[in-house]
Amino acid sequence: MHGLVSLSIWQIALVTFILTHITIISVTIYLHRCQAHRSVTLHPIISHFFRFWLWLTTGIITKSWTAIHRKHHAKCETKEDPHSPQVLGLSTVLWRGAELYKAEAKNIQTLNRYGQGTPNDWLERHIYTPHSDKGYLIMLAIDLTLFGVSGLTMWALQMMTIPFLAAGVVNGVGHYYGYRNFDCLDASTNLFPIGIFIGGEELHNNHHTYPTSAQFSVKKWEFDIGWQYIKLLAMLKLAKVKRQIPKIVLDKNKHRIDIDTLKAIFNNRYSLLRTFQKKVERPFKHFSQNCLEYQQIRNMKRQLQQLWTISSKTNSELLEYLHDWCQRAEALKIKQLADFVAYLRSYTLV
Ligand SMILES: [Zn+2]
Ligand SMILES: [Zn+2]
Repeated sequence: MHGLVSLSIWQIALVTFILTHITIISVTIYLHRCQAHRSVTLHPIISHFFRFWLWLTTGIITKSWTAIHRKHHAKCETKEDPHSPQVLGLSTVLWRGAELYKAEAKNIQTLNRYGQGTPNDWLERHIYTPHSDKGYLIMLAIDLTLFGVSGLTMWALQMMTIPFLAAGVVNGVGHYYGYRNFDCLDASTNLFPIGIFIGGEELHNNHHTYPTSAQFSVKKWEFDIGWQYIKLLAMLKLAKVKRQIPKIVLDKNKHRIDIDTLKAIFNNRYSLLRTFQKKVERPFKHFSQNCLEYQQIRNMKRQLQQLWTISSKTNSELLEYLHDWCQRAEALKIKQLADFVAYLRSYTLV
């Protein structure tokens, strides 16, 4: 009845939390940040531990998860997105997220197109992929042996964690309710500024804005526990961070538009646009829509946005466009707009 380890109810709750937390961390660090986005590389021992643990507790195949997730980013909020609540409805994604995942995992085209670069070694080919449904039976045997009858409840909670929290809550609510730091093109939201319970995946709007960054927190008051673990692993030489959100600085001695300005703008376009809205657009919001200055500002904002929608141009052409935009903005003789141009000239990348 009690298994090899006799625990009080609180100890059972704590052990269950730790076990499910390890599963969540395996998903966010190994599947999401390492495999799907290549923002961090892991030491083979660490990466194999995550793979093994995911086999025991989720039955997820690395290639399937990676492919479906990459497709989600590529086709976000369209009919081809495997799990968009904007297209399928929130309750479908929240409650049937795991079914949507299973259906898409059968799509060979998705796996071939988006699943490249995932593990294909002997263990993957002979154990993890063909026997993906056996690992959680071993976990059940371990839970029952160690914790007796309570082990059954602990196992059930372990099995429900990812289908509900990742496939349902992050994929569903994370594209529906919450706050947005960035006005990116999809409907992604940050569920909560403190990302512990879902390993930092709560900060989904930040992630969709900077998908290749290993760190999901952006603001000072945001916390991403997955990033803390990555930093710890990196300190122990067990992980290497490949990409982070680029750092933009304002250089008071810089008064020109150059290739650094252009790079900084492209890397930071969403927050730049927010600055434009706050510093230039907002002071005119109380004026009527017919106010000439307000219309001119709106027009300049549209033209600034065009800078990153025209991707076929060369750097020198984009630079010329930006120079021209600054000159036209200054010629309008609107103080807020002129201040924004001065701000832009001091903008640079670390
Ligand atoms: Zn998403
Ligand atoms: Zn992602």
